[in-house]
Amino acid sequence: MSNDNDVLIIGGGIIGVSAAYFLTQQGIEVTLIEKGDICSGSSYGNAGLIPPTHSSPLPGPGMLTQGFKWMLNPESPFYIKPRLDPDLIRWLWHFQMHSNRKDLHRAIPLLRDMQRASLHLFRDLIELEELDCHFEQVGGLTLFKTERSFAQGRDKVEEMQVFGLDMELLDGDAVRELEPIVRPDIVGGIYSQEDAHLDPALFVKGLAEAAKVNGATLLTNTEVLGFETVGARVKTVDTTQGTFHPKDVVLATGAWSTSIAQQLGIKFLMQPAKGYSITMEEPAKMPKRYLFLGETKVAVTPIGSELRFAGTLELTGLDLSINQRRINAILQAGERYLSGVASSNTPEIWSGLRPCPPDGLPYIGRSRVINNLIVATGHAMLGISMGPVTGKLVAQLIQEEEPELDLSAFAVDRFAR
Ligand SMILES: Cc1cc2nc3c(=O)[nH]c(=O)nc-3n(C[C@H](O)[C@H](O)[C@H](O)COP(=O)(O)OP(=O)(O)OC[C@H]3O[C@@H](n4cnc5c(N)ncnc54)[C@H](O)[C@@H]3O)c2cc1C
Repeated sequence: MSNDNDVLIIGGGIIGVSAAYFLTQQGIEVTLIEKGDICSGSSYGNAGLIPPTHSSPLPGPGMLTQGFKWMLNPESPFYIKPRLDPDLIRWLWHFQMHSNRKDLHRAIPLLRDMQRASLHLFRDLIELEELDCHFEQVGGLTLFKTERSFAQGRDKVEEMQVFGLDMELLDGDAVRELEPIVRPDIVGGIYSQEDAHLDPALFVKGLAEAAKVNGATLLTNTEVLGFETVGARVKTVDTTQGTFHPKDVVLATGAWSTSIAQQLGIKFLMQPAKGYSITMEEPAKMPKRYLFLGETKVAVTPIGSELRFAGTLELTGLDLSINQRRINAILQAGERYLSGVASSNTPEIWSGLRPCPPDGLPYIGRSRVINNLIVATGHAMLGISMGPVTGKLVAQLIQEEEPELDLSAFAVDRFAR
């Protein structure tokens, strides 16, 4: 095996795999390096939603205040592990600075356009590569248990309609007509017709196989250890399987990206935000589309014969440990909103880390520090949804083509001091 190649991609999640696919489509020689198996990071057990109607970033008016209130409840969907970590403090400060309506309204169309472009690509790729991944574009429903949150939902619909996002307010009976498993005390919901869902792991693994058929070399159980730079260029990449001499490098290591970038003198702000999923096989009843349990922020996704419950956002660093109390809280939320979703089979319990920048926008592009490195990370809660288009944008940047979307808001150095 030759260790000289055109492009070396670090990270085998949806972002790295999508980049590998689009680069090999253009005849570029690609090696992808993954420290575990393909799709063993956050791209594996997430909720699998592709929801353009959920284009609000994490920071928003009142978010941090609400977050701190939630912290008092050990079963709430949010937690920050109290610690004197300068990176976390800086991140929280920038998060608060972006938690205003002006920044929210700047971010929504950017995330909407990324997701819509991806949704087209999902449909094309699944058809072209015959990927069997339970993709369904049948919309989604957000459910509310209290009149107060239903009223807030109404405001949200009005806000999102301004951005051309088609969401419809439904009363409780209309919601139950669409999804009979919704409990009688649910007062209403929001129907999001354009949204889709899929099995993220089946999609990523299928696309990785397609990239391999196109000529990509996929090296699993291979970890990047360090770099040698000459001037403003990466000259070599040291891994547990030898040294590589690529022309260009793509950094797509999700929540692990900050420390790897730091080795190259590239600084960007990002916090890993842990979440959990619980996947049940063959529950007694299934919804037709994804459901989002409004007050508890739990997503419920039908994936083939399985039902996945996903939720919680914990800022606890690079820590994948499972907090059983929060797992129970996710399951109890499911039972409070839906009937007949219990399963007698042992569920699969998973944790993953969302790579979260403080302004809720990804990092996509070249850094000013290193010329031959493209960063593609920070997709937070929408990494699956924005994955394919990110891969395509990376391929356009490598080819020095004009990217099909304006990337200025995603600049890698935007928080560099
Ligand atoms: C509970 C939960 C629910 C979610 N639901 C959704 C959803 O419904 N829709 C959506 O769009 N997004 C969702 N997300 C977010 C989504 O999962 C992520 O944004 C996305 O998977 C990030 O993809 P990635 O390729 O950047 O990172 P990853 O999938 O984490 O891939 C990075 C890879 O890099 C590898 N790596 C790290 N360090 C090294 C190294 N030194 N050398 C080699 N390899 C390395 C890792 O092993 C990993 O496989 C959810 C996340 C969670 C936790």
